[in-house]
Amino acid sequence: MLSKANFLKILDIIAEMFPRAHGELRSDTPFQMLIAVILSAQATDKGVNKATPALFAKYPDSKSLALADISDVESLIKTIGLYHSKAKNIIRTAEMLETDFGGELPHDKDLLQKLPGVGRKTANVVLGDAFGIPGIAVDTHVERVSKRLQLVKQSATVTEVEDKLMKVVPESEWVVTHHRLIFFGRYHCTARSPKCTLCPVLPYCKFGEKLSIQ
Ligand code: SF4
Repeated sequence: MLSKANFLKILDIIAEMFPRAHGELRSDTPFQMLIAVILSAQATDKGVNKATPALFAKYPDSKSLALADISDVESLIKTIGLYHSKAKNIIRTAEMLETDFGGELPHDKDLLQKLPGVGRKTANVVLGDAFGIPGIAVDTHVERVSKRLQLVKQSATVTEVEDKLMKVVPESEWVVTHHRLIFFGRYHCTARSPKCTLCPVLPYCKFGEKLSIQ
């Protein structure tokens, strides 16, 4: 397993590689961010960003989306995977925000997770990016990079990855670390063809060493 000191060194290197890492889903309000993150499950941010301008132009807030016709919402998001269930979830989420939360997003992880389609990762992303509440959302990139770098056991669950990262990284850096690890995983240490031979992290990475000598 990687030591804490070495992992922090790696994070510094990744910070230099991606100094402007940020959330790539477009939204104008916390509500729209929540909807975009729900839509992004098992889909690319690019694909979501193509669909949401028309969706948000017609249904900019929970009040309007709660009253939407599901077939209309489906037609607006049909380019996104799993759009049938996502259309149902975002309308139901808008309804719950109106009926249970006075049209406001709760600033609380447990309450957010009561909304349809909102899991731990989505709640962490929204709390961090919309309200600046520290958290580390573990998506597929964060999980893969953490395992390749042996910060956690290969068998670690998403929650174990999140707990370990929160233990090692100072709280003030949680949100930005989440974005940096996503950029690193999305644009450099990719699932199918990680750029190991060009990687400044290679001296610390057994996974990359093995790949490089194959
Ligand atoms: Fe990823 Fe390869 Fe770099 Fe390791 S050396 S972090 S596997 S790109």
